[in-house]
Amino acid sequence: MLGLMQDYPLLVHTILDHGALNHGEREMVTLGVEGEIRRTTIADVRRRSLRVARALEKEGIRQGDRIATMAWNTERHVEAWFGIMGHGAICHTLNPRLFAEQLDYIVNHAEDRIVFVDTTFVPIMEALKERFPTVEKYIVMTDSEHMPATALPNAVAFEDWIDGVDEDYEWAKLDENTAAALCYTSGTTGNPKGVLYSHRSNVLHGLMVNQPDVFGLRSEDSILAIVPMFHANAWALTFAVPAAGAKLVMPGAGMDGESIYQLLDSEKVSSTAAVPTVWLGLLQYLEQTGKKLPHLNKVVVGGAACPPMMIRKFELDYDVEVIHGWGMTEMSPVGTTGKMKHATSTQDRESQLKLKEKQGRTPFLVEMKIVDDDGNDLPRDGKTSGHLLVKGPCVSSGYFKLDEDVLTGDGWFNTGDIANIDPLGFMQITDRDKDVIKSGGEWISSIEVENVAVGCPGVGEAAVIGLPHPKWSERPLLIIVREPGSDVGEQEILTFLDGKIAKWWMPDDVVFVEEIPHTATGKIQKMELREQFSDFEFSSPA
Ligand code: ADP
Repeated sequence: MLGLMQDYPLLVHTILDHGALNHGEREMVTLGVEGEIRRTTIADVRRRSLRVARALEKEGIRQGDRIATMAWNTERHVEAWFGIMGHGAICHTLNPRLFAEQLDYIVNHAEDRIVFVDTTFVPIMEALKERFPTVEKYIVMTDSEHMPATALPNAVAFEDWIDGVDEDYEWAKLDENTAAALCYTSGTTGNPKGVLYSHRSNVLHGLMVNQPDVFGLRSEDSILAIVPMFHANAWALTFAVPAAGAKLVMPGAGMDGESIYQLLDSEKVSSTAAVPTVWLGLLQYLEQTGKKLPHLNKVVVGGAACPPMMIRKFELDYDVEVIHGWGMTEMSPVGTTGKMKHATSTQDRESQLKLKEKQGRTPFLVEMKIVDDDGNDLPRDGKTSGHLLVKGPCVSSGYFKLDEDVLTGDGWFNTGDIANIDPLGFMQITDRDKDVIKSGGEWISSIEVENVAVGCPGVGEAAVIGLPHPKWSERPLLIIVREPGSDVGEQEILTFLDGKIAKWWMPDDVVFVEEIPHTATGKIQKMELREQFSDFEFSSPA
């Protein structure tokens, strides 16, 4: 027998309808690429999104067509998102940090028909335009006053394009499983792969992150969405913030410590989210200027492991709660958050700070387990490491136009991460499976060694890779970028590590470099480092 409840499809534009009707006056604030602050409201953003949808219809865009955006977090980008998805087309976010070859592959694979592009990225598109035969038009995310002279075919300023277009548009009537958005993984091995979200998965994910133990957004909140909309959907904030009726603040291109601080201060931001490198910039700025963070309550740190010293600085020096999160593009992307729970509330502060170093526990709607190489379930004892598998309504079941089975026989998605899970459900990533260091038959966690090493005074960034070793099969090499002005040396770093990690995890050598290579989503490119140091010989290969 079926239940007798309404068949009410979960569609992303209904989030905007709800936000506009119930929180229409709530502000959206953007630091524009020209350095100006622009203020609008949820109600206005909805009106302009409807005009985007109408304008797309006039261009002959049909349901299922792919429309790309290469843009910073701005209110115009939000309007483009809702307009594209609300018209039934698929919003394809392009990461401007990808290499030209990857962008070439992605735009052609997606067969994008229109590209929305910020003025900053016009040169990237101009350099590639000949390679994009499917792209008919470029909409530059600006007004006529700031429109650059450009060789892009059929280029028009966003404001001119929607000017005079009727907002009397009715959102497309769609099945909730209709594709809404497309985001390619950065493809460190092989071609990038397209993760295709549905309206249903985006709405559920938006609701999921609004649970109190995840991001816990409320209508009173002011949220600074630093994590880019082109990096795994700004971790759902574009949907979760209007759903909660909170104020959405967006930094445009301003990712440096000072710009972030200005927005935190002037917009009285209560919660914010970004990758660790952004927070390093902010913490450095605060230390240099002696400024404090009186309004900020919560900072979500994810995308890469949050170093322990960052947790301590935010919590102890600035009285800001750190929520360490983990996820991936294929998970929409949020998988876990490290919010304390009932059983940990009686722990002392030191134990809680230590627990926050783990990547956290799953909210309702994400299932997670670890398995051995043969797929057998492993215990949740906080010690045993295994391949991390996930399941849920916001987890990919395949990739766009790729006819390959990506799930295990019983429907689990292999994240490619190696992790342990403790009896309270807190998960800890020890490595990517392709980056694990196998020494004497045991695994060394490169992430843990890096975490400790960046706490050493004078160390700016640290990476640990495994290199072949005659006796132990692999041994760790620690690669360091010094902080500007520092002359920290190998011995100081090894002394600092001593006692903080297992003896046999101690790096066999420490090397100093000017720069560590990163992927388009800010991750250390271990593969490139392994190539770079392939001829390296340990000083004492005993
Ligand atoms: P990419 O396209 O670069 O893979 P994703 O954001 O999808 O970008 O990357 C997901 C991966 O990032 C995860 O599988 C994991 O390895 C890593 N990651 C994300 N958050 C964390 C974290 N808090 N700690 C450690 N690793 C993380």
